[in-house]
Amino acid sequence: MFLKQKKRYVVRTCGDPVLGEKARPVMAVTPEIRALAERMTEAVQVYNGIGLAAPQVGESLRLVVFDLPEKALSPNPTPGELLLLPRMPFVAVNPEIILSSDELSCQEEGCLSVPEIFAPVVRPARVVFRASTLDGEVIQCETGGLLARCIQHELDHLDGKLFIDRLDDEEAQKIEAELKQLKRYGAHHNYQRVKVK
Ligand code: ZN
Repeated sequence: MFLKQKKRYVVRTCGDPVLGEKARPVMAVTPEIRALAERMTEAVQVYNGIGLAAPQVGESLRLVVFDLPEKALSPNPTPGELLLLPRMPFVAVNPEIILSSDELSCQEEGCLSVPEIFAPVVRPARVVFRASTLDGEVIQCETGGLLARCIQHELDHLDGKLFIDRLDDEEAQKIEAELKQLKRYGAHHNYQRVKVK
């Protein structure tokens, strides 16, 4: 009898310096990049997330995996939602935001690197998103809804920013104690959370 070997999935938590760095562009989709994308895709599913950026697994590279449910479609779906939601999990290489709407939206966010802390974040409601796939296909589309929010959250990771850096004073104060506790815990655990599957 063969037992399937278990894998360890590590996600870096708030306080780890890699989460504060500006990530490097992916210069070429090498076998290593494909392996990293595969590992990240597995990780986002193991952690039940909707998105994961490479710095969150300790790699300072401009690579993101999105894994939103298809039902995340907004009532008046944008072309980007119609294009990308059926293609989940979607790996974005060197993703960029080309344009952001003046219209804003405020919604609660969480992050696999900031476990169990949630807070409302104000962001543009829609963005024009551009990225390459692992196979070199260039995607450019206007997105809204949860996808637009998730794109902005994940791209922030590539510039060393977390959602907790975008809170207004009142919301920042509400999570201050929990955040301090999380950082203290992280300092004793190499800023790593681990799941084995
Ligand atoms: Zn995050």
